[in-house]
Amino acid sequence: MQVMPNWLKKRAELTPGRMAVTIGEKSLTYQMLNEEAIIMAKKLAALGVKEKDRVAVLAQNSVESVVFMHALTYLHAVLVPLNIRLSGEELAWQINDAKADFLIYDPVFFKKTEEVRKLSQVEFYSWNELNKLKEIAVPVLKDHVSLEDNHTIMYTSGTTGKPKGVVLTYGNHWWSAVSSSLNLGLHLEDRWLAATPLFHMSGLSILIRSVIYGITTVIHEKFDPQKANSAIKNEGVTIVSVVSTMLAQMLEELGESRYPESLRCMLLGGGPAPLPILENCKKRSIPVYQTFGMTETASQVVTLSSEYMLEKLGSAGKPLFPAEVKIMEDGKELPPEEAGEIIVKGPMVTKGYWKREEATAEAIKEGWLYTGDIGYLDKDGFLFILDRRSDLIISGGENIYPAEIESVLLSHPSVLEAGVAGKEDSKWGQVPVAFLVTQKDKTVTEQEVLQYAEAKLARYKVPVKAYFVEELPRNASKKLLRRKLMDLL
Ligand code: ATP
Ligand code: MG
Repeated sequence: MQVMPNWLKKRAELTPGRMAVTIGEKSLTYQMLNEEAIIMAKKLAALGVKEKDRVAVLAQNSVESVVFMHALTYLHAVLVPLNIRLSGEELAWQINDAKADFLIYDPVFFKKTEEVRKLSQVEFYSWNELNKLKEIAVPVLKDHVSLEDNHTIMYTSGTTGKPKGVVLTYGNHWWSAVSSSLNLGLHLEDRWLAATPLFHMSGLSILIRSVIYGITTVIHEKFDPQKANSAIKNEGVTIVSVVSTMLAQMLEELGESRYPESLRCMLLGGGPAPLPILENCKKRSIPVYQTFGMTETASQVVTLSSEYMLEKLGSAGKPLFPAEVKIMEDGKELPPEEAGEIIVKGPMVTKGYWKREEATAEAIKEGWLYTGDIGYLDKDGFLFILDRRSDLIISGGENIYPAEIESVLLSHPSVLEAGVAGKEDSKWGQVPVAFLVTQKDKTVTEQEVLQYAEAKLARYKVPVKAYFVEELPRNASKKLLRRKLMDLL
């Protein structure tokens, strides 16, 4: 068993005066954060929370969420972060699936919890109720963590189907944080902006890295492109984690102005990175690090290092130091330049899904995680991601990757968002159709868009129809739900 000191306790001993977290007007040093986490741990203990209990939390990005995550580590209880945009029914499903013992919620979500109460036996407490409790003297607050112990059960985004509870250990998080710093470097003056939800890996991983590195997390309650840009320009933010739709909005808000030199990394993940956005960033010398990762890999597992940013534009990079990647097809490893399923291995990869042995056995074979994503390695070993296997369109025997077509459509100046899906076709089996959201104040016809695509794509990839819609179906992490595109018709 590998044991080390509780991360927050250790950090507060090493650098008590360093700023741990800033949100709006409120800031906490590591010492203050540690004191608050200990108080919260004692209050949670007063509710009866104990080792191995699963404690769900329904909260916006807030100081309480940060304190809460650390408080659970002092009790060795398992964090189950819930997505605030889920319906009451969906929340109840996850709470029951996780067999959560407690649900702690932000009072702004009281209405949602009413629905959950009807469908679940979990014990409910709001932040306010928790705050009013008297602390109890816990026999022992856990001042050590074991890398094998479970830290989180985090549900996948539910892009391809029902979300799955991914069990992540302290070791998974530890190695994820260490691996990231071996690639991005560790700068003591870093301030990492968390404008993505803390209930997803992208946000949670920032909190974990920051306590291990001793840097500051700047939290935004909600993503706002103007606020995010201002944090970079005026508040010394050096690293930002973004998904491509966030980055697109930030670039639009930025207009002709530039980011200061202090911005050293725009960490772009979570989904396909459309080439037009990458090229736009290249033109403006914005340091975009493309990365590939999943809930199952505790955030990034493959990232493009800075020296290859321009040369390998469009690649998600190479596996992080302790990680490995292979491309498989029909049980065989494929050579470079051939597309197949991406499989990954490394100490940040989950050991499996919560209480789902079958799904675990299907996804993890001989220590390799089968990602369900299709990609290829180029001859230099750089990973290029094509798409999810489940979204693949097969037309007349040819594979069509929706992400490639979307990327071309997005480069049209009038197109703001694009989604492509396969439509049944009696001659070809399937044919691609496009769904587009246009830029405000810009008009464009279907014919113009399709002609534009025709000039850039092989004939069989050109959508047979383009539909203009108000918005595309997305989940709470703003991921495109391609399986729901056809419902728009
Ligand atoms: P579910 O597993 O429930 O369907 P999900 O896969 O969207 O949901 P996440 O774990 O949040 O849940 O997302 C991981 C997925 O995001 C990857 O499997 C991949 O499809 C996509 N992804 C992540 N990074 C990239 C990238 N750089 N390029 C393309 N796709 C990416
Ligand atoms: Mg997935």
